[in-house]
Amino acid sequence: MPRLSNAEIAKVLLGLAQLLSVQKENPFKIRAYRRAAKAIVNLSESIDELVRGDSDLTAIPGIGKSISGAIREIVQRGGALQLLEDLRLKVGQHSAALSEYPLLDPGRVECIYRKLQISSLAELKERLERGDIGQQMGARMEQHVRQALVPRIGILLYEADHIVPGIEEFLREKCDVRRVEVAGDFRRRVEVIRELSFLIQVQNFQNVVDAFARYGGRTTLISADATTAVFEIPSEVRVRLANTTEELWGLSLLIATGSEHHLEKLFELGHDLAALTNAKASCRTEEAVYRTLGLQLIPAELREGYDEVERAAARRLPALITTTDICGDLHAHTISSDGAHTIDQMAAASQKKGYKYLGITDHSQSLAIARGISESDLWAQLRYIDELNERTTSGIRILKSAEVDILVDGSLDYPDAVLKELDYTVCSIHSRFGLGKTAQTERIMRAMDNRYFNILGHATGRRLLKRPGYDLDFERVVEHARQTGCFFEINSSPERLDLSATNARFALQAGVKIAINTDAHSTREFDFITYGVEQGRRAGLDKGSVLNCLPLAKLQRTLQR
Ligand SMILES: [Zn+2]
Ligand SMILES: [Zn+2]
Repeated sequence: MPRLSNAEIAKVLLGLAQLLSVQKENPFKIRAYRRAAKAIVNLSESIDELVRGDSDLTAIPGIGKSISGAIREIVQRGGALQLLEDLRLKVGQHSAALSEYPLLDPGRVECIYRKLQISSLAELKERLERGDIGQQMGARMEQHVRQALVPRIGILLYEADHIVPGIEEFLREKCDVRRVEVAGDFRRRVEVIRELSFLIQVQNFQNVVDAFARYGGRTTLISADATTAVFEIPSEVRVRLANTTEELWGLSLLIATGSEHHLEKLFELGHDLAALTNAKASCRTEEAVYRTLGLQLIPAELREGYDEVERAAARRLPALITTTDICGDLHAHTISSDGAHTIDQMAAASQKKGYKYLGITDHSQSLAIARGISESDLWAQLRYIDELNERTTSGIRILKSAEVDILVDGSLDYPDAVLKELDYTVCSIHSRFGLGKTAQTERIMRAMDNRYFNILGHATGRRLLKRPGYDLDFERVVEHARQTGCFFEINSSPERLDLSATNARFALQAGVKIAINTDAHSTREFDFITYGVEQGRRAGLDKGSVLNCLPLAKLQRTLQR
C-alpha cells in the first residue's frame, strides 16, 4: 500500500463530512469528522506510521473511537473508505463532486443550484466567472463560493500559535536541530500568516531538508538552496527553514524577522547590514546588531517600517502596552444574548484575570440572529447588575452597557431613555455591509452624533480570511470621533483583529483613545486579550493611549460626553 500523508487522510475525512452534510446527517457527527481532519492536518507525526505501528489514535485530541476506526481503514485500503464510497453512490454524481471541495457549504450550493437552475460544479464555476452568482445571490455568496473553489494559503495567527510548537518539536526531535527560533510575520505577530519562518543552526542542512520532507507523513518541498528551504505543509501555510551560524545568529534573526520595510529603513539610514558581517562587530544577538547600528533594540511587533528606526535612533521608542496593563474588558456577551455564560460567571472569570471592571455588552433588540435583547429585558439586566454590584465585595465592578446596533440610517437600536442609563455603549454595525463607502461612513458619523455613543465596535467588520471589511473612509470617521469624543476598540477576536494595526496607528496619531476588548462570548475567550494587545503593540500603543488601562474612576470620567 502507498504511504499516505496526513493531508491525504484528512481529505478523505473532510469529503465524508461533506457528503454527510449533503445527506443532512447529525451536525455533531459532521463536526466531529471536520475536527478530526483538522487535528490530523496539523499533526507533525505521520498518521500512516502510527496506524502501521498499531498506536492508539484516540490519544490524539479530536479523534474518538469510531473516527479512529475510519482512519485505520483509510490507511489499510490506501485512501479508500467504504462509507464514503457508499455515500457517493447514494447522493449521485453531482453531489458527490462536492466531497472534493470541503469548504463549499452544501446547503448554500443547493440554494444556488435551485435558483440558477444548475446541477453541477462545472456549471457553478462557469456562472461564478460570469458574475451570475454575485448578481443574483449577493456578494457574500459569491465570496463564499470563490473561496471554497480556489485553495487558499494562509492561516490565522491564532491557528499558527497551535502549530508552531509541533514544528519546533519536529525540528528538534526528528531533524536533529539543536537551535531553532521562529521569525518572520509570526514573530512580528501579523494577524494572517502565509509563511512560517524558522531560523535554525545545524552542520548539515541537507539532512534537515530530507528529514523535514517527512513532516505530517509527507510534505512538499517547493524550493531549496544551500541555506534555505521552503515547504508547503498540510496546514495551508508554507514553512521556510533558514540555516545560520552561531556568530551570525542575531543578524540572521533580524533579517528573517523582517519586515521588508523595516529592513529597507535600516538600509536607508546608511546601514549596510552585509557590511556588518565583515566588520568586527558582533552579530550574535539582535541587541548587539541594533547597538552597532546606534539603535535601541526594536521590539519585533514594531518592525513595520513606519517611524520605529528614527525613534530607536533618538532613544524614544514607545513603552508598548502589555496584557498586565489591562484593567478590564469593555466588550463581553452573556447568555442574555449569544454568549455561553452568565453575568456572574463572566464576572468571576474576569476577576480571576485580575481585572477591576467588566462591561457587559449584550446585543441590542434588532439583532435577532444573535438573540438581541428587548428594551424591557435590558432594563431587567441593568437592575440585576446594580444588585450584583451592591452585594459583591469582590472588588470587580460590573459596568452596565450594551453592544448597540447602528441601524442603517445611523440611529441607535435603543431609545435615549435606555441609553442614558448605561455606563457607556459599544456601537457596532452588523447589517447592510454593502452600503457603499460614503453612505457607510456617514451612517457611522451620524451614529457618533448621538451623545450616548462611546466606542465604535469592530470598526470595519472584517473577518480575516473570510471577508474584507465594509468600505469606509476611515480618516473621516477618526476625525469625527475626535471631534465628538468617541473612541475605537481593537476587537481581539483572532478572526477579526479590527481595528487593524494600521488603523489603530492612525487613531493613535489623531489622539483618539482605543479600548482593547475581547468581545468574549464565553469565559475562555477573555484570553483573546493577548491577540488584541499584540495588535496594539504593532500599532505602537502605550498604556496611556488605551482606554481600558485607566483605573475605574478615571475611565468613567473619560467616557462622559
Ligand atoms: Zn459585534
Ligand atoms: Zn460583540
